[in-house]
Amino acid sequence: MRFEVPVPLSHAWLDDVRPSPYADQLALGFRWLRFSRPLEQEYRDYLRGDSLELKRIALSVGILVWLAFAAFDFVLVEAPEVWWIFSIRMGVLLLLCLFGWLLIQRKYTYLLQPLSLASLLALGAAASLVVGIAHRVDPNYPYEGLLLICMAAYFLAGLRLSEALCCSLLVMLLYIAVELTMGGVDLARLINNSLFLLSGNLVGAVGCYLLEFKSREHFLISRLMRVLADHDSLTGLNNRRSFNRQFERLWRQAQREQRSLALLLCDIDHFKAYNDRYGHQAGDNVLQRIGGLLQDAARRPLDMAVRLGGEEFAVLLYDIAEVEARNHAEALRQTLLALNIEHEGSSTASMLTMSIGIACIQPDEGGALAQLYEHADRALYEAKAFGRNQVVA
Ligand code: GH3
Ligand code: MG
Ligand code: MG
Repeated sequence: MRFEVPVPLSHAWLDDVRPSPYADQLALGFRWLRFSRPLEQEYRDYLRGDSLELKRIALSVGILVWLAFAAFDFVLVEAPEVWWIFSIRMGVLLLLCLFGWLLIQRKYTYLLQPLSLASLLALGAAASLVVGIAHRVDPNYPYEGLLLICMAAYFLAGLRLSEALCCSLLVMLLYIAVELTMGGVDLARLINNSLFLLSGNLVGAVGCYLLEFKSREHFLISRLMRVLADHDSLTGLNNRRSFNRQFERLWRQAQREQRSLALLLCDIDHFKAYNDRYGHQAGDNVLQRIGGLLQDAARRPLDMAVRLGGEEFAVLLYDIAEVEARNHAEALRQTLLALNIEHEGSSTASMLTMSIGIACIQPDEGGALAQLYEHADRALYEAKAFGRNQVVA
């Protein structure tokens, strides 16, 4: 009988999609629930948005349970102390309602995480006080509600494990401190209660670890998939799909801000002959090098370099005059010439060349988006017809 060591599948496919910070992090792992620096911030921002709904549900459930417990107190504590307990519960309820109001506002998202922690700590402190006071009247008063607060921290409040763990341990310490001060239960019982809370916390922490691990994995994979869906795998440039989407978005922005847009359509000359002469792999290498050139030409934040398909590329330039766009295209053509990539099969030159068609559009000219593409395409056609290796606007 032969044993085969299972190949870690997750790593095998990740090598194909590098370089990508998401793939790198997936391959590196995150056993301590921490990503490398910029990714960690991105994850926390994502979590903040993602946990908004969860926080809303948690708060509603929390308020309902808290009210139910307040009603039970009148059955369980038959002494004047019940009014102390009631006031403590109402004080916390007020705080929860305030938090709920802020949640509905949707404005104070940066406050959500600290407020969640503060609410849980307030609940924990209040519950500890309630239990401490009640135990002076009746040592059998249930203290297990404290565990519910810890569970809410682990599973409902949208906290990370480190936050939930700190919060829950603090609640436990508060409880012990209150019991020791109030003296409602004897030491043996306090130890018993604390051990029960501790083991409950252990279960919560393990569950929370697994959940956060999965949430982080989901974050990395979904971001990676988005990048893959929007980019061409050979050159790393944006693909046609993301181009179409961005094109429309930039067009609307250009109209709003009254800026011009320029589109450069680039097509490598005699590329079929290049493939035939030097092989498909050499052709691929050339496409990658040209992809790099185009990426350099679209360095400003709103510019975009695209592989439209095959050996056709586009550069979309935001807020640029026609003369400048022309200079840009000319510089691009010259840079490719300077690379001096031998092309014996070309009837245009001894090295690889490309033709570029340009179109510019001013939003106030009232031209349509489709027109920009059409004009650039026609200019490219002319560049080819006039003998290739040139820029036509
Ligand atoms: P023209 O100067 O008129 O543009 O001629 P051309 O040969 O460049 O244009 P044509 O459209 O006839 O051929 C494009 C070639 O690009 C055909 C195809 O073999 C090649 N090609 C398309 N995609 C890839 C690719 O991903 N890798 C490689 N190596 N070649 C590709
Ligand atoms: Mg071509
Ligand atoms: Mg072509």
